[in-house]
Amino acid sequence: MQDTDYTEGLLNFIKTSPTPFHAVAAMKTILDTQGFQQLREADVWDSVDNGRYYVTRNDSSIVAFTLGKDPAANGFRMVGAHTDSPCLKVKPNPEIVKQGYLQLGVEVYGGALLNPWFDRDLSLAGRVSYLDQQQQVRSCLIDFEQAIASIPSLAIHLDPDANKSRSINKQTCLPPVIMKLPDNEKHRKGTPDFREMLLALLGRQHADAGAEKVLDYELAFYDVQPPAVVGLHQDFIASARLDNLLSCYTGLMSLLDAPDNANCMLVCNDHEEVGSVSTSGAMGSFLKSVLHRLCPTPEMLARAIDQSMLISADNAHGIHPNFSDKHDDNHGPIMNKGPVIKINANQRYASNSETSAVFRHICARADVPVQSFVVRSDMACGSTIGPLTAAETGIRTIDVGVPTFAMHSIRELAGRWDGYYLYRALREYFK
Ligand SMILES: [Zn+2]
Repeated sequence: MQDTDYTEGLLNFIKTSPTPFHAVAAMKTILDTQGFQQLREADVWDSVDNGRYYVTRNDSSIVAFTLGKDPAANGFRMVGAHTDSPCLKVKPNPEIVKQGYLQLGVEVYGGALLNPWFDRDLSLAGRVSYLDQQQQVRSCLIDFEQAIASIPSLAIHLDPDANKSRSINKQTCLPPVIMKLPDNEKHRKGTPDFREMLLALLGRQHADAGAEKVLDYELAFYDVQPPAVVGLHQDFIASARLDNLLSCYTGLMSLLDAPDNANCMLVCNDHEEVGSVSTSGAMGSFLKSVLHRLCPTPEMLARAIDQSMLISADNAHGIHPNFSDKHDDNHGPIMNKGPVIKINANQRYASNSETSAVFRHICARADVPVQSFVVRSDMACGSTIGPLTAAETGIRTIDVGVPTFAMHSIRELAGRWDGYYLYRALREYFK
């Protein structure tokens, strides 16, 4: 795959993936076209033989793999990433009417950088569970697609200290405004019912579903501004959810190139941004269950784990020219200088000298530059799915990622070349 195809594909993937549910759906679509067969956890897997497969859990996590030679003897070459990003999720009883406006109450999901959420054109997407005409509970994905909401800033005239000390109250400052209620008294009786709005959208987007009543939903606001290549020399990619859909897409593209006789696996978990403790998170049983079913005896599983390695890919903090004192002088990742090996003596990252040596060697073989990140010794270090997956499974792991600015903003910035470098390194690894 050429860099232009990679970049175009990445931008499209992020655009069609406003939520983890949509990201997994987009990955399934790609896997289906590339000859991967869907397995369901409820099915018997006895006949699973050499081939290409994927399995999902909660519609928001996915494990895709190629099965070749005896996994117990050869183990898996694995890549991990996460499908979720910080965002604003709609509360169960969300309707708020104030000053004649309808707003929706939201919860902050994960460690969102909140300031950039103001004054954006927002839409809403996610999963809706409904009752159909047969009185069965079913779910489907929806996406309003249009800009239906905004969180307007307070004008600086009304908050003169805004540039010095604006703080954001998550309860009171964030509810997005979705409409001005009609003045006509007839229309003002009762608060508009958000579930009725969802039912109307379901009727338009999934007419064949026969939805009669919306029961519940997991919906997140997102910025309708599409991802873009930016910079005078097109050095950067600007987008929401680069953390960590960039790694999901890059891992997926690498897996598509994996040889059929190798055991290669991509695991993309939900809920990394909130600690990974869930059925579909990295602390959950999903990956362990898949590995166990592919290596059914304790001995087979233990042998496979000993022979496996995981490259956990999640973005790193590039050294910001305006805030360079936030980095260790010798460990400030630069954009477009390649993927970053993330190291932390206190095991906030799972990299060790052996796994990082392997990754350096892979990068050299793929002619890809590589960098190192260690947080300043007087600052706290972030973490990711790497250490959790390593601890849960016993698989030796390295944490890597591409440098980004503005991590957890609604619009992050990454180097135009680093994702492609990571793709080349992971493709070499799967080979
Ligand atoms: Zn991340």
